Amino acid sequence: MNEFEIIEKYFAPLSRDGLKDDTAVLKIPPGHDLIVTSDTLNEGTHFPVGEAPEFIAHKALRVNLSDLAAAGAAPLAYQLNIAFPQRPSPEWLEKFTGALAADQREFGIFCSGGDTTSINGPLSISITAMGLVPAGEGLRRSGARPDDAVVLTGPVGDAFIGLEIVRGKLNPAEREAFLRAYRKPEPQIKIAPSVRKFARAAADISDGLLADLGHICEASGLSAIVDLEKIPFSAGARRLLAEGAVTAGQLLSGGDDYQLVLAVAPENLPHLSFSHHVIGRFASGEPRVAVLDESGGDVSFSEHGWQHFHS
Ligand code: ADP
Ligand code: MG
Repeated sequence: MNEFEIIEKYFAPLSRDGLKDDTAVLKIPPGHDLIVTSDTLNEGTHFPVGEAPEFIAHKALRVNLSDLAAAGAAPLAYQLNIAFPQRPSPEWLEKFTGALAADQREFGIFCSGGDTTSINGPLSISITAMGLVPAGEGLRRSGARPDDAVVLTGPVGDAFIGLEIVRGKLNPAEREAFLRAYRKPEPQIKIAPSVRKFARAAADISDGLLADLGHICEASGLSAIVDLEKIPFSAGARRLLAEGAVTAGQLLSGGDDYQLVLAVAPENLPHLSFSHHVIGRFASGEPRVAVLDESGGDVSFSEHGWQHFHS
């Protein structure tokens, strides 16, 4: 199978037009903005060597959908760029594109094109996803104001525990649920329209809660004060915390979680139609995230969020 046969047999069915052209034409309905985001997954860096093709596919698309959700966007289309270290097998391609097709149906998006190349290096998958918002309503990180609530859409840290399981460092009872959080995250696409309506700023927490909340603080020129006891953890994560198998710092900065952290005006809190946790508030002051324990003491963590090239 050469490049063109691979495209024809496996990628064209993911598209609407059969990928007959060099370019795609996307119609943007009047009164809308196009939201664009890219994320690349490299084998050995973003997923383990030998990871199952369906989980590579789910993760590659879903991390991009998560960024669309943080902008409050409705999914439209995505470009799929793949660099293969060797010719992929038909079984690999079938599982990979089968998982993409399933996610396309679940999240209402289609493949508008891409590129297929070979590489003298690891398998690399890069997706650029596009979504739509009513003009001017796309959420940014910079919109938070003093006294806005810091709102989190769900528990943090399960993906970090999943990664520890993959690394062979933990083997808890809820193994499968943690692995799933790491390998097949749930992007918050369904609540994106309400997030857009009620939040002033948003980010997903793919770099870890502390880092991504810090990004909102920097973009908005504010500090954030968070109560440790209000941060939601899954029952399994709470048990591992109590046993000392993981630390709060690891769960708050581990990354690969795909909940959203939001800035919500106090008057909007009663209207939030999705499940959520108010974990603190924004305040004027130096951009920094302070985490307080029950007695109001400042907890400091040695961990920082995920960074490439960190020194
Ligand atoms: P070009 O010669 O301009 O690079 P290609 O031959 O790479 O074009 O691609 C042919 C068509 O197949 C284009 O519509 C392109 O968008 C699509 N395509 C190529 N690779 C992929 C891929 N991995 N996923 C989806 N579509 C792809
Ligand atoms: Mg090409």
